[in-house]
Amino acid sequence: MSRTTATMAERRQTRQINVGKVAVGGGAPVSVQSMTVTKTADAEATLAQVYALAAAGADIVRCTCNEQEAAEALAQIIPRSPVPIVADVHFHYEMALAALEAGVQGLRLNPGNLRKPEEIKLVASEARDRGVPIRIGVNAGSLHPELYKKYGGATPEALVESARMELAYFEEVDFDDVKISVKASTVPVMIEAYRLASETFDHPLHLGVTEAGPPPAGLIKGTAGIGTLLAEGIGDTIRYSLTADPVQEARAGRQLLEALGLRERKGLDLIACPSCGRAEIDVIDIARRVQEAFESRAWPLQVAVMGCVVNGPGEAREADLGIAAGRHKGHLFIKGKIVRVVPEDEMVEALVAEAEKLIAEGVEARLAAADAGAEREAEEDRKALFEAKGADVNQSGQRIAMIRKTIAQEQEPRPQSGQ
Ligand code: SF4
Repeated sequence: MSRTTATMAERRQTRQINVGKVAVGGGAPVSVQSMTVTKTADAEATLAQVYALAAAGADIVRCTCNEQEAAEALAQIIPRSPVPIVADVHFHYEMALAALEAGVQGLRLNPGNLRKPEEIKLVASEARDRGVPIRIGVNAGSLHPELYKKYGGATPEALVESARMELAYFEEVDFDDVKISVKASTVPVMIEAYRLASETFDHPLHLGVTEAGPPPAGLIKGTAGIGTLLAEGIGDTIRYSLTADPVQEARAGRQLLEALGLRERKGLDLIACPSCGRAEIDVIDIARRVQEAFESRAWPLQVAVMGCVVNGPGEAREADLGIAAGRHKGHLFIKGKIVRVVPEDEMVEALVAEAEKLIAEGVEARLAAADAGAEREAEEDRKALFEAKGADVNQSGQRIAMIRKTIAQEQEPRPQSGQ
């Protein structure tokens, strides 16, 4: 059994829809979404951001369609976009019709602010005729006032009820090319709403914690909500909603899916020890430099940076490649086996050079090319360090002796005063 299947629930079966070339639901890979923050009417700026989001890991990008100029720009953006474009529509059903005319591959409607049944049905009919899916994007912050009153707030039940009502309008015009989201900014409400939605609908679910705020808190909220549900097998497409450059949203989405084993790794997975009293280098600085050096290279490697050779290579033996510091040297290892010992100030460069060869030649070839004396030299360094401070890094033996001495002194009978 793989590690992934051992810790993740089986994915819930949903029906499949297609957002342009991207399949969502029905066992398709979980996709990453993000949203542009440029004025959609500025086609060039928006397209540049779409490209940046796609490069960072977004499979689908959403743009607001809030005015005629935005719809007209969408007509220019869509044919040049590397990923499907979804139009985000609030309040104005005409904007949904205009976005369909522009050729969008998906629509997002908010049932909380697009409420007239005849308008909803008109948009659904048009989407049906054009084969364009719609996301029913329920949001706790803009829930229909009647549902708010009925449930006494934006409860999970109220959010799911909102989606169900919208779906009923769609069904009246024979349209069910739909995915659903029931977002809330409070993580437990969001989790419960999606669990309920998953029991209620077989449509694909778009996960997100809405208005999560700036990182790092926003990232933590998003990960807590989306990650919990994905681990339960719920969710077909995801979006982090961060108050930040949307590239961070796309990157976080991709990294979360890779971390959960739901998408293949595209780039670096850096593991680094947290450092401790044994560290022989500034682990934080070296890890940052490694991250920067690998950032521009799309090498799908797990790379370890470990602060000492006493535990480092052993603890990171699953990594494709790693480096551990010891006695002013860097011990370079592949799959836990030491292949080279380099001067400490060349650690990062050596790691990058070895990664390049590893990608080009493969693990077996690089293990075969290991320096003859590397293992022995590393073992000597490890032993020397272990003897120097490994066994008793806190001088615990001396401390225990002092504690015993102090207690023994305190327990000795004190001379009585005045005698
Ligand atoms: S690898 Fe070494 S320095 Fe890093 S946490 Fe482990 S023992 Fe400490």
